Amino acid sequence: MEILRPASVYALVQGPVLAAMLALIAIEALLLILVFRRRYDAGETAASLGVALGNIAVRPLNRLIITAGLSAVAVFAPWQLPIDSVWTWLFGFVGVEFCYYWMHRFAHTVRWMWTTHSVHHSSGRFTLATALRLGWTSGLSGEWLVFAPLVLIGFPPVVIAVLLALNLLYQFFLHTELSPRWSVVDYILNTPAHQVSAQAEECVNYGMPPEHKYCSSSGN
Ligand SMILES: [Zn+2]
Repeated sequence: MEILRPASVYALVQGPVLAAMLALIAIEALLLILVFRRRYDAGETAASLGVALGNIAVRPLNRLIITAGLSAVAVFAPWQLPIDSVWTWLFGFVGVEFCYYWMHRFAHTVRWMWTTHSVHHSSGRFTLATALRLGWTSGLSGEWLVFAPLVLIGFPPVVIAVLLALNLLYQFFLHTELSPRWSVVDYILNTPAHQVSAQAEECVNYGMPPEHKYCSSSGN
């Protein structure tokens, strides 16, 4: 049975990655205030960082639930794809992106999952700090079950965990209004330009009340 153990790698990179994110959040704040002369809501940022601290504190428990769940599913996989094959990672990337799309969709449409995900959308601002405003109950929400089919067809859970971590790291950079358009890349990948327009679409597609501050904050 493949045991999900990205924890040691994660522990190694967590500190530097977090430090880099905090530095970028500070740079974004300085740019917004000093260069673009925009109002910066320090209270919202403090709230986001507080939520992030809580998320980090309960992360080992969530990781334990998800690890146990996906490792149990892996028992039923008829085979294991080789972890040292580039094809496993390439097809794994496509699979994780596909599943992530559905996980996010379910997170908006299934009330049990929305209970956790709504925390992420509870800010009225759209800044890098908002990316760290993540719910504390991802293990209980069951959203990780969306990735179970990948495990069942043989993708090692650790491959899924690493690709998902990279996905979330990339998404940090999408949560800002300061990024310029990414030219032709805007037509291929999820970019900051999409995030702002997706906000309006999410409100309509997922039936979020228009009076919700997320829907009425015109891209923040
Ligand atoms: Zn969402």
